[in-house]
Amino acid sequence: MSERPLRVRFAPSPTGPLHMGGVRTALFNYLFARRNGGTFILRIEDTDQVRYVPGAEEYIIESLKWCGLHYEEGPDVGGPYAPYRQSERKAIYRQYADKLVADGHAYYAFDTPGELEAIRKDFESRKLTFSYNAEERKKLKNSLTLPASEVETNLKNGVPYVIRFRIPENEEIVMHDIIRGEVRVQSSTLDDKVIFKADGLPTYHLANVTDDYLMKITHVIRGEEWLPSLPLHVLLYRYLGWEKEMPQFAHLPLILKPNGQGKLSKRDGDKLGFPVFPLFWKDPDNGETSSGYRESGYFSEAFVNMLAFLGWNPGTEQEIFSLDALVNEFSLERVGKSGARFDPEKTRWFNHQWLISRDTEQLTGLFVKLLHEKGIHKPEEYIRKTVEMLKERAFFVRDFWEQGAYFFQAPATYDESVIKKRWSPEMAALLKELTVRFSSFEPFLAENIKSNIHSLAEERKANFGNLMNCLRLCMVGSSMGPDLVQLCEMLGREEVNTRIDKALAEIRI
Ligand code: GLU
Repeated sequence: MSERPLRVRFAPSPTGPLHMGGVRTALFNYLFARRNGGTFILRIEDTDQVRYVPGAEEYIIESLKWCGLHYEEGPDVGGPYAPYRQSERKAIYRQYADKLVADGHAYYAFDTPGELEAIRKDFESRKLTFSYNAEERKKLKNSLTLPASEVETNLKNGVPYVIRFRIPENEEIVMHDIIRGEVRVQSSTLDDKVIFKADGLPTYHLANVTDDYLMKITHVIRGEEWLPSLPLHVLLYRYLGWEKEMPQFAHLPLILKPNGQGKLSKRDGDKLGFPVFPLFWKDPDNGETSSGYRESGYFSEAFVNMLAFLGWNPGTEQEIFSLDALVNEFSLERVGKSGARFDPEKTRWFNHQWLISRDTEQLTGLFVKLLHEKGIHKPEEYIRKTVEMLKERAFFVRDFWEQGAYFFQAPATYDESVIKKRWSPEMAALLKELTVRFSSFEPFLAENIKSNIHSLAEERKANFGNLMNCLRLCMVGSSMGPDLVQLCEMLGREEVNTRIDKALAEIRI
């Protein structure tokens, strides 16, 4: 472990809504920083102007806030290494590209996009894949092949160029990853990546490494998709003379589709019926929308809890962890390297667990809000009781409505299969009689309600259970729902009788 103060960063590119895999990366960085008394930083990597999407940065910030992933330094809060938005750091990068060129580790390449495209096509036609590598660069238009005078004239005349990193020939690059251990790569398998573009901006690689160095980042924790970039990053540190300050790397395992087949993609979500984004997103270009966990009724705690288990485990049976509890337990040693399968059912289960652990007051407040949106106003005490009765079976706050609308309105339809099985003219007559009985006693409480149904069934030699089922059909519209006499007590005499009359008028056999 390095002696320097521990600093980690989450460095998303604002190219669209933040995928849940991105939130997982942010979470692991956050947990690692908190666990080890370090600093967590947000840096926006927006040097690719073509892929920049308006609103994406705000979306990233709001997502982190929703999850409770507080960062000490970032574009909106500043910090000692500001600015934290790469587009505002443009002037910084060029000198490092120049240094690499001067030292022979990078070169100017004048090949036009059209020329490269033609070469690529030619390779394809020969069933080969073109790569601007140590072999091919010898045949292309760059400062390694052109006479020095021509290079100079080109530069003077403003001929467009990019700067490419010169991958060393025939070298084994040995790297260390906290999660994967030693990783070795032959330099001949690598290509000469562009590090500085014709538009005067660095590419991801140069900007990322430079900023990690300047911002004194000690650990880079990011997704596995960046592992192929690691050899280049390690070489950049080496040739820029920063090897001593090079951060340690940890590449998090891929998040796999629910069936375990391949990486979970942005397109999987709404196709398979679950969100892959933390928040709702509307694409500013085409208006396409994507659902988010927040708007789908998930508690942020459940979302975070689920994300933590995508690659990490506590080594015990415990599954429910708050953010603080995760901070106490988290270590990169407990992050695996094999892909983590995303399970939407388990995610719902996490939400259920977080819902039942919420206190009734809080859930009541959320449900009141939902009811108000539907124009339903009832005393808070009444709503609290419904929450108490429905809580154990609910996965989301909206389930209180979806499973308990009958607490607030008479059923609109009646379950045909229950009618077939239970309803009869005899039962209808008994229910009519019940409305009379229900008007005859005080107070209208569960116990009294029950004894009156009992005595009526006994006097008329009718099946008590069947009568209860028919009464339930009148109140709820189906055979579901909570304790029936308790429900009747809550609805009150008048509503109970109205519902019986409504059912008697509407149910035909
Ligand atoms: N900007 C990169 C991204 O969008 C950052 C990768 C890294 O963490 O190095 O994920």
